[in-house]
Amino acid sequence: MSSIPLIFDLVRGSFVDGPGIRTTVFFKGCPLRCVWCHNPESQIHRTEIAWYADKCVKCNTCIRSCPENAISYNSESLHPSLFGEGPGVRLFNREKCTGCGKCVEACSFNALKQIGTVYSPEKLIEILLRDKAFYESSGGGITFSGGEPLVHIPYLEKVCRELKKQSINIAVQTSGFFNYKLFEQLLKPYIDIIYFDLKVMNRKKHYFYTGQYNDLILENLYKLQSEKRQTLIVRTPMVPEITATEENTEAIKLYLKRLHIDGYEMLAYNPSGINKCLALGRDIPERHKLNVETIFS
Ligand code: SF4
Ligand code: SF4
Repeated sequence: MSSIPLIFDLVRGSFVDGPGIRTTVFFKGCPLRCVWCHNPESQIHRTEIAWYADKCVKCNTCIRSCPENAISYNSESLHPSLFGEGPGVRLFNREKCTGCGKCVEACSFNALKQIGTVYSPEKLIEILLRDKAFYESSGGGITFSGGEPLVHIPYLEKVCRELKKQSINIAVQTSGFFNYKLFEQLLKPYIDIIYFDLKVMNRKKHYFYTGQYNDLILENLYKLQSEKRQTLIVRTPMVPEITATEENTEAIKLYLKRLHIDGYEMLAYNPSGINKCLALGRDIPERHKLNVETIFS
């Protein structure tokens, strides 16, 4: 993973990503591909262009502005990555797209959005410290999320070292799939709160629904709770038919009984990833719709 991460969102004044008033930084890039992901724009570590059908007036300005001819006009054929429907279909060749953002600038209707911005560590620190007074008065701080923030450990180390000089509370939200040794060496001393996702206990099902086995995740969780210095909160997104089954929740409960953690949260299922997939020209994972019992029986 690149040492210069892309950030797809910076939310100031958040009340939902930890205690108090926080700024949450969402990184692009994730080693998992959870089929229910509500932030599919976070998965790929490159700039992407999202197109929002409900805002497009089909003026074709984007077609004229693209230096790569990545956007074209086709009145006849239907295409999986089409812009709109019926006569006047726009085609978006995402392989040709370099992410330059010229079409986004050209669109007067906010129908296109560039997803993924580079911030130097110095620039990010400057933005994060703008709300220092709010963090201090509310017991808040900064939360690094994603995607998977811990694929960017060297970058985060630079940022967190400076934030800690100012006694800022720092939280991370992680999938648990990260290099523990690197985390321990560079980042762990700066982190106050870890929100650790534990999604599916069954190893095969974990692979089926996320694209990775859960061995590394369980290993990292075990190490974190045994060498504990941070507040450790384990969380499970409650996805119907996938994580929110009796079998899975019971298995998680049994497993966590043996660990020393500070809390457990069940997160409400958020289906917004489906519309985001469409805006990014991606297929909605078929597996999202399937009942796991029928697959593994
Ligand atoms: S410039 Fe914007 S509104 Fe016009 S066709 Fe392109 S996306 Fe649609
Ligand atoms: S981001 Fe640049 S290359 Fe991609 S479609 Fe827009 S103008 Fe073309």
